[in-house]
Amino acid sequence: MIKHTSQNSDLLQLAVIGSPITHSKSPLIHQYFIDEFGINAVYQAIEIRNQTDLELFLKELRGGNWRGINITIPHKEHVIPFLDDVSEDVQIIGACNTIVNMNGQLSGYNTDAEGFYFPIQKMVNDSALILGNGGAAKAVIYQCAKIGMKSLTLVARNHDKSLALIKRIKSVFSIKIELLTFEQLSENTITYHPLIVNTTSVGMSSADVIFPEIQAIQSHQIYYDLIYNPWETAMMKVAKNKGAHVINGAMMLAAQGALAFNLFFNKYVDPNIMFKLISESTKEG
Ligand code: NAP
Repeated sequence: MIKHTSQNSDLLQLAVIGSPITHSKSPLIHQYFIDEFGINAVYQAIEIRNQTDLELFLKELRGGNWRGINITIPHKEHVIPFLDDVSEDVQIIGACNTIVNMNGQLSGYNTDAEGFYFPIQKMVNDSALILGNGGAAKAVIYQCAKIGMKSLTLVARNHDKSLALIKRIKSVFSIKIELLTFEQLSENTITYHPLIVNTTSVGMSSADVIFPEIQAIQSHQIYYDLIYNPWETAMMKVAKNKGAHVINGAMMLAAQGALAFNLFFNKYVDPNIMFKLISESTKEG
């Protein structure tokens, strides 16, 4: 499962774990900078299908030459009980996408939240409309509250799974959060918020699918979709045609990667270079 290079006993190990994992861009963006800095390390993608394999893997992570890992769907929540300490972000979000191993001590971080904010930091306003409430939405909701937004409207099929997160956020930040179902989503709601964030996977498997209300978007608004593959979904096209400022998920992926790299190696890397690598490899298919 895990590649070992026996001739090189100092080789540091890093990985992204999840399932499915074969299309992850993390090995590409991390290995690029590992090589640029001349670090003796290898970054792999490791398929971890279930909880049993996850627990075995996390035991292995404490030892050997493991420097750290990134975590993707479906394990961002599951890893938390196995960590020695977690950042405040992880405590509130309830999801961890980066683990650093320091002499057998595992520390958990969430770089998705700040990564999400990176491409919009110079343009955000007081409120946002967030579509979906899966794993990625948690980091988005948290970051919107953390940067001081006054109100959010969350649109989801089932709000039960957001309630604990909303409670944690409201205990720390002063923010108004309105909950709607997709049936309640109106064109007025779309036009009300300066920032619309699609955190659902709608548009991923079939680029033609849209939430029809998005047609109401106007040119002064930002449409931010966390999807980057396909590079442009049908909803991004609609928003672009209406003149809105459209951002896909590639810069978020790049920025969370750059922050994670800094946690692994204490070295700053330029998210724009990671973005370029993601862009080239996604567009090449
Ligand atoms: P997830 O936990 O599976 O959440 C998916 C969300 O989409 C859930 O809220 C789900 O609702 C909703 N959804 C799916 N189909 C829907 C439909 N037809 N109508 C309404 N809602 C629907 O996945 P995730 O990890 O949050 O990822 C979500 C998206 O963000 C993916 O496209 C992923 O690639 C992207 N992402 C990007 C980055 C980045 O760095 N750019 C990072 C993380 C994730 P239910 O719960 O009701 O099913």
